[in-house]
Amino acid sequence: MIDNFEARGKRKKLVEELKQKGISDEEVLRAIDTVPRHIFMDPAFLNHAYIDKAFPISSGQTISQPYTVAVQTSLLKVKKRDKILEIGTGSGYQAAILVEMGAKVYTIERFRDLFLKAQTTLSSLGYSADFFYGDGHTGKLQYGPFDGIIITAATKEIPDTLLKQLKIGGRLVVPLGDNDLQVMTLVLRTGEDTWDYSSHGSFVFVPMLKGTVNGK
Ligand code: SAH
Repeated sequence: MIDNFEARGKRKKLVEELKQKGISDEEVLRAIDTVPRHIFMDPAFLNHAYIDKAFPISSGQTISQPYTVAVQTSLLKVKKRDKILEIGTGSGYQAAILVEMGAKVYTIERFRDLFLKAQTTLSSLGYSADFFYGDGHTGKLQYGPFDGIIITAATKEIPDTLLKQLKIGGRLVVPLGDNDLQVMTLVLRTGEDTWDYSSHGSFVFVPMLKGTVNGK
């Protein structure tokens, strides 16, 4: 069973809660209203799927809090057919939100089991995206430049490689800071060698790490 009446009702409430928390982008709210988040969750947390909280998935990682997904997605200002690169596929929920909004999504995950599972989940919902198993620090040069890059893991520094894979006029959204707390940062590429930075509140993410993990 993919979706049901009860889950749809809970999503409507979640969307109301996100509006109250200041999310106003109608397309982002519509995507959150549409994508069944419970399908991305560990069965042990099914009852929590529409609570505005992050939850554990496998490999010690988390599915981001809906509010966090809404903030990052709003900052990206996704338009239909935009090419978006995501670093940190995790459950695939954020990727599904972007696909639902009409983006062409390329997503990279360093845990092989999450990379495999997210593909199954998205295809079971009829969403298609390009999945890669690897270390997102190097981006995906051959598919760029991108209209948007979303990093869903915490980093102290934005890899130059990623900044350069952004189109001029493109937007990169990243939680920047140490492991305890990060500042949501929007980077606009304003020219060949110029990027503008702005801050958008504090968040906590799992860290962006080097290398890949090919096991459980
Ligand atoms: N976007 C996810 C949230 C995932 S949490 C979702 O919607 O569920 C962050 C994810 O980033 C974790 O799965 C983690 O393994 C992954 N990650 C961390 N460092 C990475 C890197 N260097 N390259 C690719 N993925 C990375």
